[in-house]
Amino acid sequence: MSIAIYNTLTRSVQEFTPLNEGEVRMYCCGPTVYDYFHIGNARSFVMSDVVRRYFEFRGYTVTYVMNITDIDDKIIRRGNDEGVPSSQVADRFAAAFLEDSARFGIRPASMHPRATQTMDDMIAHIQGLIDNGSAYVVDGDVYFRVGSYQEYGKLSRKNIEDLEVGARVEADTRKESPVDFALWKNAKPGEPTWDAPWGKGRPGWHIECSAMAMKYLGRTFDIHAGGNDLIFPHHENEIAQSEALTHQPFAKFWMHFGFLNIDNEKMSKSLGNFFTAREILDKYPAEVIRFYYLQTHYRSPLNFTHEGLDAAKTGLQKLQVLYDALGEAPAGSGTVDVAAHEQRFVAAMDDDFNTPAGFGALFDFARDVNTVLHAEGGLDATSRDAARDLLHRTTVEVFGVVRTESAGGGDKLLDDVMQLVIALRTEARQEKQWALSDRIRDGLKELGIVLEDSRDGTKWKLGE
Ligand SMILES: [Zn+2]
Repeated sequence: MSIAIYNTLTRSVQEFTPLNEGEVRMYCCGPTVYDYFHIGNARSFVMSDVVRRYFEFRGYTVTYVMNITDIDDKIIRRGNDEGVPSSQVADRFAAAFLEDSARFGIRPASMHPRATQTMDDMIAHIQGLIDNGSAYVVDGDVYFRVGSYQEYGKLSRKNIEDLEVGARVEADTRKESPVDFALWKNAKPGEPTWDAPWGKGRPGWHIECSAMAMKYLGRTFDIHAGGNDLIFPHHENEIAQSEALTHQPFAKFWMHFGFLNIDNEKMSKSLGNFFTAREILDKYPAEVIRFYYLQTHYRSPLNFTHEGLDAAKTGLQKLQVLYDALGEAPAGSGTVDVAAHEQRFVAAMDDDFNTPAGFGALFDFARDVNTVLHAEGGLDATSRDAARDLLHRTTVEVFGVVRTESAGGGDKLLDDVMQLVIALRTEARQEKQWALSDRIRDGLKELGIVLEDSRDGTKWKLGE
């Protein structure tokens, strides 16, 4: 059996076969770092994290790339408002993004490339599009010639004629067509700029993702993911400008995560129902929020309520209690068919990452285990260990909703502080500040805290 995924590109559930056997190359659009990310973004980031973790559960090696967009209109605007360089705004919120992600239990991606550090690749990409007639320069701006790409609209199912009618109102008369979009924006006073063969300026948002994805994952890769709101124009434009250059498919599967509403209303700052991830993390444990998100299928809209979160807390407790109990239970004589339960879990998750059904299977499992565990005779050692192992691989490793004793030693404040320290050290390492990163590790060691780096990120534990 294999994993089936709903592909936005084909509007159907398709069997997943990787381009390279046993390997998944996956890209998810990351944050534009002009502010803290909100709980709608968090839903996408958590789900993408679970998809990656589930592929690993199924034995795949996953290369997972999530960009950090650190040059953008909104970042520049905030820098101007605060009277600081936009790079300072970007650095501050990039650090906050890594910190909040760590608090959420989201594993660091294999790479978190930054747009400003991928500039050469973007410029080369744009030059290639100019050279092959897919883009043109006007007064130092570069536009993608949408009409030159025959398959434009294949992801969002929009057609160029309709789009042209809609775009004509605010049309820039310098563009050949109102639907052509910017690959490069000519330098303006007070904005950071980079040198390009056609003049100074900065890249448009869409080209950033294409260049970063292709740099780290190759010209064609397995999965591109992101929020529903990115299908058009962002992902449509990513496909056009990538495939116009390479003449081969960009991503094979396109996965999109549903919206998050608050009390059945769209979340917005003006309605006063806007929550940042860190605001919610201050009120609820990350595991509870993750569990709450995952109880809704990722393609469905999620209605976020505080009552729902409180209920999630109670529900999740059952799995935590069982996990802890199995670690301590003396060996008895009863048995449970753990393998059969695992098959049910896998069948649910293989069906387009159906996390609510996956949890359904785990709660059935927990009920069966509890019945035997608390009956006279208890659970035999083999079943007990297999049950705890399955709970570990699913609720801890795949979903990240159950805490092991080693992580945090039961002290939430200490764990939160350590997640912050780890996030800052991860950022130092990404910027190749090795001396700083070593100082953090050595300083912690003196305090009796050991950091363990692995391909899934950094974990900490109290030293012996
Ligand atoms: Zn993107």
